[in-house]
Amino acid sequence: MTTTKKISIYKRVWFWLLCLILLGFGFALPQRFVIPVLGANKGSYHQKSFWYYPWGRSGVHKGVDIFAKEGTGVVSTTHGMVIYIGEISMGGNVVLVLGPKWRIHYYAHLKEINTRVFSWTSPGELIGSVGTTGNAKGKAPHLHYSIATLIPYFWQVDGGVQGLKKMFYVNPIPYLNAAR
Ligand SMILES: [Zn+2]
Repeated sequence: MTTTKKISIYKRVWFWLLCLILLGFGFALPQRFVIPVLGANKGSYHQKSFWYYPWGRSGVHKGVDIFAKEGTGVVSTTHGMVIYIGEISMGGNVVLVLGPKWRIHYYAHLKEINTRVFSWTSPGELIGSVGTTGNAKGKAPHLHYSIATLIPYFWQVDGGVQGLKKMFYVNPIPYLNAAR
C-alpha cells in the first residue's frame, strides 16, 4: 500500500468519526422546552390540532396554533441556532431554528422578527412577535409552531392522510403541555 492511499483512508476514518461525534452531540443536547408565546397556557391552543384534517392548502395541520394578542412576544422553545428568517407565502414572516435532536423548530405568521440568522437561541429568548402574516391574514392572530425532524421517524408512518409525511414531524402539543 502506498503512503498516499494510507493517508486517504485515515482522512476518511476521521471524516466519519467527526460526523458521528457531531451526530451524537446533536442527540446529547438536552431539549429544555418553554411555550413559545409569552403568557400562553393550555387554553391558548387546541389539544387535537396537530395533524388535523382537513386543513386548507396544507391538507393536514402539521403544527399547533397558539393564539394571543397581536404583538405578543414569541420566544424560542429550545436551545438552537437560527438557520432562516424571512417571508414565505403560507407562513408569512417565519423563523427556523435548528435545535437538539436534529429537529427544526418553525415559527410562522410573525408580525416582527427579532433575531438574526446564525444566532444562538436559548429557551425563552425573544425571536419575534405574534401576527397575522402569510395565510393567517384576516384570521385571529396566532403563532403557528411546528417541529420537523431531519432524521426520519419511520415508526410514525401510518395509513392516514399524508401518513408518510408523519415521519418528518413531531407533535409539539405534549411538549407544550409539559412546559412550565
Ligand atoms: Zn397553524
